[in-house]
Amino acid sequence: MSHIFPRHTRQSPPVAVKGDGCYLIDASGIRYLDGSGGAAVSCLGHSDRTVTDAIKAQVDELAFAHTGFFTSAPAEALADLLIAHAPEGIDRVYLVSGGSEATEAAIKLARQYWVEKGEPQRSKLIARKQSYHGNTIGALSAGGNAWRRAQFGPLLLDVSHIDPCYEYRYRHDGESLEAYGLRAAQALEDEILRLGPDTVMAFMAEPVVGATAGALPPAPGYFKRIRDICDRYGVLLILDEVMCGMGRTGSLFACEQDGIAPDILCIAKGLGAGYQPIGAMLCSAEIYGAIEAGSGFFQHGHTYIGHPTAAAAGHAVLTALVERDLVSRVKDQGRKLEECLFERFGQHPNVGDLRGRGLFRGIELVEDRSTKAPFDPAKGLAGKIKKAAFEAGLICYPMSGTIDGRHGDHILLAPPFIIEDDQLTELTDKLAEAVDAVI
Ligand code: PMP
Repeated sequence: MSHIFPRHTRQSPPVAVKGDGCYLIDASGIRYLDGSGGAAVSCLGHSDRTVTDAIKAQVDELAFAHTGFFTSAPAEALADLLIAHAPEGIDRVYLVSGGSEATEAAIKLARQYWVEKGEPQRSKLIARKQSYHGNTIGALSAGGNAWRRAQFGPLLLDVSHIDPCYEYRYRHDGESLEAYGLRAAQALEDEILRLGPDTVMAFMAEPVVGATAGALPPAPGYFKRIRDICDRYGVLLILDEVMCGMGRTGSLFACEQDGIAPDILCIAKGLGAGYQPIGAMLCSAEIYGAIEAGSGFFQHGHTYIGHPTAAAAGHAVLTALVERDLVSRVKDQGRKLEECLFERFGQHPNVGDLRGRGLFRGIELVEDRSTKAPFDPAKGLAGKIKKAAFEAGLICYPMSGTIDGRHGDHILLAPPFIIEDDQLTELTDKLAEAVDAVI
């Protein structure tokens, strides 16, 4: 009998024993094509020797040193490399162990910034519906995924949630994409004014929404207007690129494509590529400077921040992305994946929307294309597609989201950047079979 506390207590998943490029292999020898990189994690596939060698070398030299006493060469090197490629104005790196730790740290840093600046009345956070920022209490409070929040309501912080930028559901007939983007961004200004501008500390958003909406990109101009609004009211902009960052969308940071830079940026997943648990919160010189000039101490921390072995893995991953020009590859393979998806699903009666950027692609399923009516949640479509695909040897990430009380089924695809053309075909073929077997 297993003593593992599994995600689902009534399921016993197969035992994964080996990684081989884009495939995972279980104890009975079955190979699974990793069409979602787990959850947008495995950008280099599962057997990248440059990363495993870097980890081995680091463990042999120095496995761990507590940041209460030391910094370390791999942590310094990773921070330097990240800053060399980071959006303009981003100057400091705080290394953590995953995505939720990065977003929690971001929320606390935003708050401490205002305290250090002598504006302690700024304590309110605005985020968006149909978003996910992690599962710890602060991060879960910021997220707008009703299903994930449902049981924990009484424990959560009071965060405002504005409508997301979600053109498939919210754009009016005849409204241009650009006009819609500006209208969607206006919701932020309205909420800042409603709360009182000098009480708002930050706005948090995913540039391309992942785990609640299946790769939902913003409308053109949306984030430029969001940046302007934040600047107008002195509100910090926190971008959560835990899923969509590290090259996944065809630029190292997703926000580059929207022409803006945040004040605080969160990354994880692709940073360690699954080889080590690592995430990072990056911030501007202005924010760091306020702490430095004030108390000189960020009132935060975990045992494993700045972990040398995890940092060595992150450094090897980022080096691989840059030196092998994998971001260009994401653009090329992303275009091909988009074509395969349009070919297989473009006319599908139950596919309402195909969207995404790079190798971050989403499919929104609907019962009726003309009315956009979603399926009855009782059907449990997402879970059934996941199971059917898995049985056919494909890992994909179907999910159910809720927006304004409406249920939606989405499928997220986020394969490794090394995926080959024939594997893109295998992915879409197996997915189409699974969708058709279930609907
Ligand atoms: N933010 C986003 C956008 C995410 O997609 C996730 C994970 N799906 C998180 C935060 C939380 O990351 P982790 O699971 O590593 O804590």
